[in-house]
Amino acid sequence: MAKTAYYPPEYRKKEFNCAHCKVFAHQTWISNLRGELVDVIALNSPNNPSEELSPPGLFAASKCAYCNKWSIWIEESLVYPVQIIVEDPNDDMPDEVKELYIESAQVLPTSPRAAAVLLRLGLQILLGAVGGGGKNINNNIKKIVESGVDRETQRALDILRVFGNSGAHPEEIKLDENPDLVYEMYELMNIVTDRLITRKNKIDELYDILPEKKKDYIKLRDSKNKNKNKNKEKL
Ligand SMILES: [Zn+2]
Repeated sequence: MAKTAYYPPEYRKKEFNCAHCKVFAHQTWISNLRGELVDVIALNSPNNPSEELSPPGLFAASKCAYCNKWSIWIEESLVYPVQIIVEDPNDDMPDEVKELYIESAQVLPTSPRAAAVLLRLGLQILLGAVGGGGKNINNNIKKIVESGVDRETQRALDILRVFGNSGAHPEEIKLDENPDLVYEMYELMNIVTDRLITRKNKIDELYDILPEKKKDYIKLRDSKNKNKNKNKEKL
């Protein structure tokens, strides 16, 4: 699927991709929010310091022309809704992994380390779903590599493992100082899902279409190859 341009929400910009509906839409801005709570406090205050309670530029809100929802800004930063700035999870990701992926993306702006740890947990579940078996990610990867994956997938899995571990036990790689590395983990999660699940499903589906006779021939051919290799080993 072709990617369309994405313009993240930006303070005082007239148009951007809305943090609620993700549509590129016009935004109406108001600042100096004076909601009910502020007014009540202001009324009860002896000096009526409403200006102090709501100084210009402290609060602002933008309303999306497409979905009509408000986004809340404090000191020029978007605080609501929580922004998810990473790509969507691959559709073929198991649901439990998808949930962790989204949860991780939600905490990314405030804690890259926590985000990495959640992705690591997601990776562990993903590996379990594709035949990794045990709880130890390192052993899971070993098992999957033995069953045959390409070098890039193996490397992507190990990068995810090492970055994920750094979230839990920061040693050489300090994710707090390099949040960009955590950001890369989301793309890698999608890549490994694509390699380990999406492509496999696609090829299995097509393989099923082959006539039974052809499949029998392939089985026979491969068993002959195996025997040949065994004989070679004996020599
Ligand atoms: Zn919207």
